[in-house]
Amino acid sequence: MSNQYSTPDLPYPYDALEPNIDKETMKIHHDKHHVKYTSKLNEAINKHSEFFDTPPDKLLQNLDVIPQDIRDAVRNHGGGHVNHSLFWEIMSPDGGGEPGGILAEALTNEFGSVDEFRNKYEKTAANLFGSGWAWLVISKNGKLEITQTQNQDTPLSFGKKPLLLLDLWEHSYYLKYQNKRPEYIKAWWNVVNWDAIQKSYQDFQKI
Ligand code: MN
Repeated sequence: MSNQYSTPDLPYPYDALEPNIDKETMKIHHDKHHVKYTSKLNEAINKHSEFFDTPPDKLLQNLDVIPQDIRDAVRNHGGGHVNHSLFWEIMSPDGGGEPGGILAEALTNEFGSVDEFRNKYEKTAANLFGSGWAWLVISKNGKLEITQTQNQDTPLSFGKKPLLLLDLWEHSYYLKYQNKRPEYIKAWWNVVNWDAIQKSYQDFQKI
């Protein structure tokens, strides 16, 4: 018997986010990078059948109970699997524009305005050294917070709820943007799926 987490299909065609994110990047990113994270996670979990039924989010929320011999693999490849699964969902060919409703209100309360939120998020993303992610999360006290992580680390491991995330590994932008990470960040706003983020924010308020 073995455990098989699976890589979800992209919720849109490879070229759907053009011209902001190019088809070739999406194809390699999903079919090679994400698939590899998932298969490496499976390889690790298959050494410990007690985790076969654990949803991958739960593994990352409780890294301290993961056996030492697979903890780094779960953190890195499990993080890679979970982060990318969410990343595909928070983008859409119908994305861009402005957040609305209670999410816009909450962003304004926390950061002064939606524009100020965007500026601060862009700075955090641009300033991340090396590979990692920029995040908008709900912190433990229920406040919105901008944060960054290295490698495939996720705020889930620190008790936070991710809403929005941006992949800042060069594999996510180098074919089209080369060293111009700030241009990639600017273009990415055009595909951000605010409806999905709003929904996950609302769902969290109901808990
Ligand atoms: Mn990636």
